[in-house]
Amino acid sequence: MTLAQSIQAAISQVVGTGPVVLHEPRFAGNEWAYLKECLDSTFVSSVGKFVDRFEIDLAAYTGAKHAVAVVNGTAALHVALRLGGVQPGDEVLIPALTFVATANAVVYGGATPHFVDSEECTLGLDPRALREYLQGITDIDQKQCVNRATGRVIRALVPMHTFGHPVDIEGTLAVARDFHLTLVEDAAESLGSTFHGRHTGTFGLMGTLSFNGNKTITTGGGGAILINDTELAKHAKHLTTTAKVSHRWEYLHDEIGYNYRLPNINAALGCAQLEQLPDFLAAKRRIFERYQAAFVGVPQVRLIAEPEGCHSNYWLQTVLLDESAAGERDAILATTNGAGFMTRPAWTLLHRLAPYHACPKMELPVAESLERRLINLPSSAHLGMEGAR
Ligand SMILES: *Cc1c(COP(=O)(O)O)cnc(C)c1O
Repeated sequence: MTLAQSIQAAISQVVGTGPVVLHEPRFAGNEWAYLKECLDSTFVSSVGKFVDRFEIDLAAYTGAKHAVAVVNGTAALHVALRLGGVQPGDEVLIPALTFVATANAVVYGGATPHFVDSEECTLGLDPRALREYLQGITDIDQKQCVNRATGRVIRALVPMHTFGHPVDIEGTLAVARDFHLTLVEDAAESLGSTFHGRHTGTFGLMGTLSFNGNKTITTGGGGAILINDTELAKHAKHLTTTAKVSHRWEYLHDEIGYNYRLPNINAALGCAQLEQLPDFLAAKRRIFERYQAAFVGVPQVRLIAEPEGCHSNYWLQTVLLDESAAGERDAILATTNGAGFMTRPAWTLLHRLAPYHACPKMELPVAESLERRLINLPSSAHLGMEGAR
C-alpha cells in the first residue's frame, strides 16, 4: 500500500464511506424553535432578545466579562484592533500561518501585517523566536516598539489558536508586555479551547470569535469580541452599532461607527448552537481518539494532539507528514479527495499571497515546513456522535 492509500484507509476506519465533507454544521437542538420565535416576534434584525442573550451566554461560557456580538469574525478583529489603538501606518505582528482574514482585518485599519513564524507543538506563533527577532530589529522609543528598518510603530500582536489548539499564550503575553504591544487574540477557531483552564480569547486586551458555517458552532455568519474591560466593551458596542447616541427619536452619531451588529435571527441560531457546544466538544474529542487509533500503524504521519496543559476543541483534525514524506502530500490529497474524503492542505502562507508579498516578515522556517506537511481531515461533530458511524 502507498502512504496515500494507508491514510485513506485510516480515514475510512473513522468516518465510514464517502462522501464526507471537511466540516459541516449540526442543527439538532432548539434552532427551529428559536428561529420561529424570532420570526413570530418580527424582531429579526438589529435589536432583539437573542442578541442580548447570546452575548450573556458567550461571556458566561468563556469567562470573559463581556462579549459583543458582531456580523463576522473579520469584523470582530477589525474593531478589536482599532479599539486596541492600532492606527494607520502601524505594523501588527500576526502569524504567517493563519486564515487570510487575520491579515485583512489589519489592513482594514490602515496598518501593515508583519509576519511571524510558528512552532510545531502548537501550530501557532512561536514566542521565543519572536522575542529574539524583535530584540534584533526594533528599538523601544517612548514606550513604543519601533521597527528600525521601516520606522513604523509595531503596535499590536495577534496570536491565533490554530485549528483550536491553544498557542503558548503565556510566552506570547510576556513578549507583548516587554515590547509594549497590544495583545488581541484571534480565537476564531478555538471556542471551547482552554489554556491551563482559562478560555482562549480572554488573555489579551480583547479576543475575537467566529461563528461562520464551518466553525465549531455557527450563526450562519457571525462573530464576537471578548472583552474584560467594561469601558472598552461599551465602546465596542457603540462602534459596532453605527456609534448612535441613545435617544428616543434623534439620529445622533458621535463618531464614524460600523454597521457590524449581529442580527437577532443569527443570534437566535447562536443561542441554540451554544446549548449544544458541550456535546459537540465531546464528539470532537471522540473523533480525535478514533483517528489516533486508526493512525497507529501508519508510518511517517503524526496526528496533532492538544498542547500540554491545554484543552483543545479539536475543531479541525490535523495530521503532519514527516519531512521525508512531504513530497507525497499532493498525492495524498488527490487520493483521499478522490475517494470522497474531503481533506485540505494548510492555508498558503500569507506572505506568499499577492496582496501581502511585500509585507515585513521574520524568517519562517517552521511555518514553511508546516505548510508542506499539514493535512486537515474530516472533522464534523456528527462523525463522533453515537450511532453516526
Ligand atoms: C474563520 C476565521 C476568521 C474570520 O471569521 P469570519 O467569521 O469568517 O469573518 C478569522 N481568523 C481565523 C483564523 C479564522 O479561522
